[in-house]
Amino acid sequence: NKFQTLGLEANLLEAIKDLGFETPSEVQEKSIPILLERDTDLVSLAQTGTGKTAAFGFPLIQKIDLNSRKTQALVLAPTRELCLQITNELTLYAKYKKGLNITAVYGGASITEQSRQLNRGSQIIVATPGRMQDMIRRNLADITAISYCVLDEADEMLNMGFYEDIKSILSHTPKEKNTWLFSATMPKEVAKIAKKFMSNPAEVTV
Ligand code: AMP
Repeated sequence: NKFQTLGLEANLLEAIKDLGFETPSEVQEKSIPILLERDTDLVSLAQTGTGKTAAFGFPLIQKIDLNSRKTQALVLAPTRELCLQITNELTLYAKYKKGLNITAVYGGASITEQSRQLNRGSQIIVATPGRMQDMIRRNLADITAISYCVLDEADEMLNMGFYEDIKSILSHTPKEKNTWLFSATMPKEVAKIAKKFMSNPAEVTV
C-alpha cells in the first residue's frame, strides 16, 4: 500500500484502510510528503473529485497536537455543503486520533449551537467565510493561535465575493502560520491572494 510510503502515522493508515483507499491519488502523492516534511505554504491546482480533501486533511490531522484544545487549524470553504462535506471527511480520517475535535461553522444554522461546540475545544474549525467573520466579530471564535490555514476552492470563494471576509479573517491569525491554498483555476484574483497572504509557497499541479 503506497500510502505507507508518504510519512503518515499509524492512526491515519488505519483509518485509510477502513475507508478502503488503496492508492494515493496524484494530488495526495504530490502534496502529502511536502506538507509533512516541511513547514511551508502550498498552492495546489486541483479540481474537486481529485482527492484534495485528503491531500490537506491527512497532513493537517497528523500535525494537530492533542495536548492542546486550542484551535490550531482553520479550513475555509465557499459553501455550507462543502463545509459539511469536509467536516465529515476529516472526522472519518481522524477516527483513530481520539480527542481531536472538529467543528463546522457555516451560515443558516444556529450560531449559539456552533459557539457551544467551539467552547468544548475544537482543534480544527471548518468554516464558510461569512459566518466565520461574524463569529470572530462577536468574540465567539478565537483563531489567534492557529498554525495552519487551508483555503479550499479559493477561486469559488472569490467568485462568491468573499475576498473582504477572507482578508479580515486572516488579519486575526498569526503571521507565522502555514497557508495551504487549493483552487481548480488560477485567475488573477487567486494569484493576488497567494501573493498577499503566502510566502514562497510550494506548488503542486495535477
Ligand atoms: P475530494 O476530491 O476530496 O472531494 O474527494 C473525492 C472522493 O474521493 C471522496 O469521496 C473521497 O472519499 C474519495 N477519495 C479520496 N482519496 C481517495 C483515494 N486515494 N482512493 C479512493 N478514494 C478516494
